[in-house]
Amino acid sequence: MCGVFGVINNKDAAALTHLGLHALQHRGQESAGIAVSDGYDINLKLGEGLVTKAITAEDLKELKGDIAIGHVRYSTAGGSNPKNIQPFYAHFYGGSFAIAHNGNLVNADQLRKQLEKEGAIFRSTSDTEVFVHLIARAKEPPPAHIILHKNDTDFLPLVFDAMKKVKGAYSLVILREKQLIAVRDPYGFRPLLLGKNRSGSYFVASESCAFDIVDAEYLRDIKPGEVLVIDDSGLRSYFPFEHPEKAEKCIFEYVYFARPDSLIFGDWVYEIRKEMGRNLAREYKIDADVVVPVLDSGLLAAKGYSEESGIPLEIGLIRNHYVGRSFIQPSQEIRDLSVKLKLNPVHQVINGKRLIVIDDSLVRGTTSKKIVNMLRKAGAKEIHFLISSPPVISPCYYGIDTPTKEELIASNKTIEEIRDYIGADSLHYLSLEGMINAANKYKQKGFCTACFTGNYPVL
Ligand code: AMP
Repeated sequence: MCGVFGVINNKDAAALTHLGLHALQHRGQESAGIAVSDGYDINLKLGEGLVTKAITAEDLKELKGDIAIGHVRYSTAGGSNPKNIQPFYAHFYGGSFAIAHNGNLVNADQLRKQLEKEGAIFRSTSDTEVFVHLIARAKEPPPAHIILHKNDTDFLPLVFDAMKKVKGAYSLVILREKQLIAVRDPYGFRPLLLGKNRSGSYFVASESCAFDIVDAEYLRDIKPGEVLVIDDSGLRSYFPFEHPEKAEKCIFEYVYFARPDSLIFGDWVYEIRKEMGRNLAREYKIDADVVVPVLDSGLLAAKGYSEESGIPLEIGLIRNHYVGRSFIQPSQEIRDLSVKLKLNPVHQVINGKRLIVIDDSLVRGTTSKKIVNMLRKAGAKEIHFLISSPPVISPCYYGIDTPTKEELIASNKTIEEIRDYIGADSLHYLSLEGMINAANKYKQKGFCTACFTGNYPVL
């Protein structure tokens, strides 16, 4: 759960990266960092907390150069240690580079142990640092089918070699003294997009909402398995894996994670999320007075449900926007409190009504239990809790923060037991087909659904 951003050929590279990271703030709120190159040296600013706090206006003045990358982090691997703030910077025999990563490597522990045995010293607990070491130690020549441009002969073979060794999810931005490099794993788990503005600067970002804020246009997705290099000589694409994998795009990006105003994997999150709500209405017809979204993440599914069912949508829960996402809290006690901080019922909408409450997902059951309790106190007559995705039964190993299997309520309880636990009158989940069809309606194919099915494409 991270966001990455990169820009090249712009004198305000660091400031634009700062803006881009603001737009990607929902992808990680633990820390932020920017690395910038002036063509000779790479400079770095890293900080804890939201982008505004982590990197100040004063910091930006010191980040001079035309190429920059940035990262917002929420830890999935390695824990919330300040040493894990990205981008990571490294200096090695071939010069220097900085790297920022969205995703999660499944063989990081194994590789780390092996590298440590060979004498590598790690300064963080993050899986991204494994990449840094693999790049610095790579020896293999580039694959035979690849013909390298003269600017790419020194560094890119190292990246290709590292890619061959790691397994799992990685959308990377890499900064070299004179190059911006974007890399997406062969399955394409996490999104990564290419954009351009009118003055000829190129951008790379996790979501298109980061292009909007810097006035850039979306050009295309970085393809699964692609390594895209951008420098003074132009853009060059390489595909180090000869045999493409089956695409395994993370469907949870559409369910919850990405911003609804973003285009990712080539389609609009807004449309797909709404279609999930429509499918929910097609699957479960319920006699009720109002549809109430759990803001913000349940809004579009609720809108879709309301349109399809004809039951009016009402904002029966008001969201306090000065509180972060409830899930992104270190302990259960604080998570419990922050649900109350975040949402408050509107008594006039709730009192005496039969409600259809819609959220995008149910993970531990903490949020839904509190909400049901809150709505009962506000006088709800009936509460039908609907979830616009299937039960989450397995942890994600590809970069979405999910708790262990034991903590996932749907891996231990039946739907009826969950209904009883949260205290709703009924509980319904969108079917797996209903969710996948919502995305495939927009000509999509090839999704990773491991958190809902336990079918892991790579382990
Ligand atoms: P829970 O209370 O554990 O059942 O969490 C469900 C709530 O958390 C829902 O409102 C979701 O929108 C939200 N959510 C689901 N997955 C995540 C995640 N990986 N990180 C943060 N929030 C999430």
